[in-house]
Amino acid sequence: MLSRIYGTAWRTKEELEAYLHRLAEAERRDHRRIGREMDLFHIQEEAPGSIFWHAKGWTLYRRIEAYMRRKLQRAGYREVRTPQLVDRALWEASGHWEKFREHMFIATVAEEEKTLALKPMNCPCHVQIFRQGVRSYRELPLRMAEFGACHRYEPSGALHGLMRVRAFTQDDAHIFCEEHQIAAETVRFVNLLSEVYRDFGFSSFAVKFSDRPKVRAGSDEVWDRAEAALREACAEAGVSYTLNPGEGAFYGPKLEFVLNDAIGRDWQCGTLQVDFVLPERLDAEYVAEDGTRRRPVMLHRAILGSFERFIGILIEHYAGRFPLWLAPLQAVVASIVTDANPYAERVRDALIEAGLEAEADLRNEKITAKIRDHSLAHVPVILVVGRREAEAGTVALRRLGGAAQEVMKLEEAIAELTAEATPPDLRPGGVEKKAGEGTEPPSSPPQT
Ligand code: ZN
Repeated sequence: MLSRIYGTAWRTKEELEAYLHRLAEAERRDHRRIGREMDLFHIQEEAPGSIFWHAKGWTLYRRIEAYMRRKLQRAGYREVRTPQLVDRALWEASGHWEKFREHMFIATVAEEEKTLALKPMNCPCHVQIFRQGVRSYRELPLRMAEFGACHRYEPSGALHGLMRVRAFTQDDAHIFCEEHQIAAETVRFVNLLSEVYRDFGFSSFAVKFSDRPKVRAGSDEVWDRAEAALREACAEAGVSYTLNPGEGAFYGPKLEFVLNDAIGRDWQCGTLQVDFVLPERLDAEYVAEDGTRRRPVMLHRAILGSFERFIGILIEHYAGRFPLWLAPLQAVVASIVTDANPYAERVRDALIEAGLEAEADLRNEKITAKIRDHSLAHVPVILVVGRREAEAGTVALRRLGGAAQEVMKLEEAIAELTAEATPPDLRPGGVEKKAGEGTEPPSSPPQT
């Protein structure tokens, strides 16, 4: 009998303690447990690797989606929607059938000869939209975005909560551009990505540059051009990176954007990939300024990666204590005595009227029990109301984790909470410049 024993070694007691602290923190922040406590989602055997989003989890999801949609729209993207089930022939043409087949779910029906596959990525479908009609260089760069629902097979043993799933939605987009536009588009993208990460509470990220892998499509000459364009773009965007040799996609080099969370863990989320191959394989072309027909370059890019995994990362980053603009349930109105119930309901209705997600807790329970329950569910704000508050038209506002209560007029509380619940991109004075126009270069210290 052999058994494997793992161990770690540390130079000092302090380093060991820091390591143990990190382990305990990771355990405390586990998104699966917090997801249960906050009633966000569940997973069950009948749909392995797929998420059942509960009402609160879906509220969180839709908040993030609405934010991303606004950011993309202002950054010059056009949103599209493409099919889930796509004929094998298209996957053969794109090269996915050959290179990615073992990750694809295949669907057939008895009545038809055709073999369809659930899309594992959106790229070939976006090329189909690009190919409708004759494209001109005047339309480029053409930025096509999709919150694309994709499926990829992962062995059941590898599945892990929201972090590793089989069904996910990418914040995907493809930028069809001319070769000389790669650098400028990369700069725009990096600026957009750093705004998004900052708004979600991540102050720094690192960048990795992955160059040509051993198994690849396209000639060395094409790879030389693609890698050079991406290096030049990084220099222009002021992005420093570490090299990740041989880790590029099979069709082109890529940048990977790695977030650093509240307890120092790294999460690769964003990517930008330069692709000269897929437009060739799927016969995408445009009419250039000189009247000749040319192949566009495709930039594949994502900021969050997938909504599922990004939400998992956010839950652990905040340990469930979301800023108000993200919190699924933003406020609970808790009555101290049943006499105050009608007032508690009026307060709840006023909050909802103001656009906040609010509930009233009218149970015949002690106020301490109500506060404990909603604190365990990570509700950021509890408004306590009794007879006195009902008579004076006030509320006692209590923040998650704090013992203090602040008594204020209901209108004041609503004004304070709605201001705080406004997404960062919609706050007064927060109307930002368009992506790529004079935004600060991102802080991106090289990874060690
Ligand atoms: Zn793509």
